[in-house]
Amino acid sequence: MMSDLKVYSMASDPIYIGTGGYTIGRVDNTIVRDPITRIPKIPGSSFAGTMRFYSALKLQSAFKEEYRMNPSKRKVIDNLEKLFNNNLEEWMKYEGNKWSMMKCAGQDDKPNEYYENDEEIEKMDSKKSGHCGHCIVCKTFGYSKDSKSQQGIAFFSDLNIIFFPVYTREGIMWITSKQLLEFAEISIEGVEFPQGEKVIVVQRSEKNKEGNINLGWLNLPYEIKHYPIADELPDDIKKYIQNKIVLVPDDLISHIINSNLEVRTSVSIDPLTGASKVGALFTSEAIPRGTVFYGDIRLIERPVSNDMPSLSQVEAMLKDASRYYESFGIGGMVTRGFGRMKVFIR
Ligand SMILES: [Zn+2]
Repeated sequence: MMSDLKVYSMASDPIYIGTGGYTIGRVDNTIVRDPITRIPKIPGSSFAGTMRFYSALKLQSAFKEEYRMNPSKRKVIDNLEKLFNNNLEEWMKYEGNKWSMMKCAGQDDKPNEYYENDEEIEKMDSKKSGHCGHCIVCKTFGYSKDSKSQQGIAFFSDLNIIFFPVYTREGIMWITSKQLLEFAEISIEGVEFPQGEKVIVVQRSEKNKEGNINLGWLNLPYEIKHYPIADELPDDIKKYIQNKIVLVPDDLISHIINSNLEVRTSVSIDPLTGASKVGALFTSEAIPRGTVFYGDIRLIERPVSNDMPSLSQVEAMLKDASRYYESFGIGGMVTRGFGRMKVFIR
């Protein structure tokens, strides 16, 4: 069995996911881009990695203090509901979760330790062990041990841009193109896409049927059409962008996005003196606040094992964990006000 979850996301801060070390032109810290379209994106590996962390965090924070502080109690847990409070979500009651630790969130630093059964569970030491290999986090995102290795249930695509905010004389508008909409599986039946240098403003007021519009520094002729393009989006995204969408030709979209990225100059601070380091100015580019992304998460049920969480438990966990992106964000420079975004999983 398989199920596909759609992911829509809107950046509430600029998003910075660095390539680590390239310098392009005047920018020191460049972001990850699709190698073919050159459009920036959030790699599936970053999205999955933070989701793993937030899932483990959600699970651990829901468990009672006494359980976390007293690992020896793990042995006697026959019924999770007896120990954990009754307000636990259904996915948190998955049997294997009694092995779960915060360590399940990150890289496995003890891949050779594996505990097979309940008698051995008391040997576990949350300070020493790596992934537990039993809980819903390990089962969903996969783990690798000396004796056992298991691919996860969930596979994360990249989060690609579908609507990108650009300053215009008319206020902020969101640009998109045929290619971006098709990729996001947004229905475009009957939609006429612009050719040449003309753009189409979707669903704006009737008062100017034609004219010119500036998308950043680019000034382009436009005409108005009425298409229900934003209708499939979550309401919390739709309310910002509907009536402010501009369709641009596929061969212009990458160009416009790349010339309207956020570029910030920062100063490196010496952590000992608190003063700025001499000559330590650096520039970073980022995907701007308001950008809308689309991706998917594929859940694949493994018929071989009988002790796996159900796909609906996994789906519920991912939906719960995704709320952490609003407060803790994704990517780099989160302490400088980058990275927060709203994530909607359907
Ligand atoms: Zn685990």
